[in-house]
Amino acid sequence: MKVYTGVTGARLPRWLLADNWPMHNGAPQLATLHFSSEGPQCEPEQPAHHDYLPLHGALVLPAFIEPHAHLDKTFTIQRSPALQPGLLAAITAMHQDREHWSHDDLLQRARRALDWAAESGVSQLRTHIDWFTPDAPLAWQVIGDLDHPLCRIERVALAPLSFFTNAADAQHIAAQVAVSGPGALLGGFIHSSNWDAQAFTHLMKAAEQWQLDIDLHIDEELNADAQGMRWLANYLEHHPFSGNLTCSHSCALTQQDDALQILDQLSQQRVTLIALPMTNLLLQDAVPGRTPRQRGLTLVKEASARGIPVLLGADNVQDAFCPVGSYDPLDTLFSGLLSLQLGAAFDEASQLICHPQAFKQNDLVIFPQADVASWPLRQRQRYRLKQGVRYGDESNGA
Ligand SMILES: [Zn+2]
Repeated sequence: MKVYTGVTGARLPRWLLADNWPMHNGAPQLATLHFSSEGPQCEPEQPAHHDYLPLHGALVLPAFIEPHAHLDKTFTIQRSPALQPGLLAAITAMHQDREHWSHDDLLQRARRALDWAAESGVSQLRTHIDWFTPDAPLAWQVIGDLDHPLCRIERVALAPLSFFTNAADAQHIAAQVAVSGPGALLGGFIHSSNWDAQAFTHLMKAAEQWQLDIDLHIDEELNADAQGMRWLANYLEHHPFSGNLTCSHSCALTQQDDALQILDQLSQQRVTLIALPMTNLLLQDAVPGRTPRQRGLTLVKEASARGIPVLLGADNVQDAFCPVGSYDPLDTLFSGLLSLQLGAAFDEASQLICHPQAFKQNDLVIFPQADVASWPLRQRQRYRLKQGVRYGDESNGA
């Protein structure tokens, strides 16, 4: 097996390079990367070294992150389509599909999703898994047993807020997540249809007690009266949380007069915000027979401006929530480029799909044929170069 000790001629995105990196005709000069245990040491292109892979200007990114998926629900659209537009009708269709969720059914669908993501260059995939009772569902174990040499999986226990009404139930859920090992998080579905501040308090306290990180489906609606983000921002000011907190969706911020104040408060905490462009466009402001008037995405630019880390996720793929999807972060990014008006795709916006730690691990995705102006739409073939070892065939995009 050939192991490269570096690459030459890499076109890295502007956001990854130092401010004083030399520019040439308005673009960053190509880079030579020397792989080391602390990640690649970058310098402007040097003459070819022995055992370095020559890239001749190919676009290079850190390996991708898929921060928000649903592997238990995926690939069920054929047998269980939603009967109405919108989020709540999709939830109903999904509940009916659960009768099919045997060990083999879950394994086959989740494995396919994981393979698709890894082939696209994803190095870490976080999947939410529905809990239907305070006891862990079969999918929790089936997906927990999955692995892939190029993609790490994280699981989030996605329980409706009503499961945290009793403090004892909240403790019971958190305890099961805690014994599931690293990469298991506590989650919850928090919406104005189930709003309960006491239950939210139980969820937060249970996570703190069991030293769990949290990832919430929160305020996934365009209702200005949604309370989740506002309550959380105030709660954290008085009850510091020692773990990492991720807020997924948070669409209602676009409707709230105090949204910027909420973001100011959250910028003082360890909070990451995740926007889900495809499902938010599809499920928000969805009324039968009427063209949507609103986009439904959270305040990505305002959050970024306050130093809050922001990522884009795929969310549902080929199920009642979203009939399309590919587990390719490039599709998610393209959707975000238009709906969020993100600016330069490669040099700026690509940061929203890259795994923050991948670069330090010498884990790269290389687009040998692509050019900056056309990316991510043309010449999407890619291969992975991880720790100097090349995976995937550049001719078939794997
Ligand atoms: Zn989701």
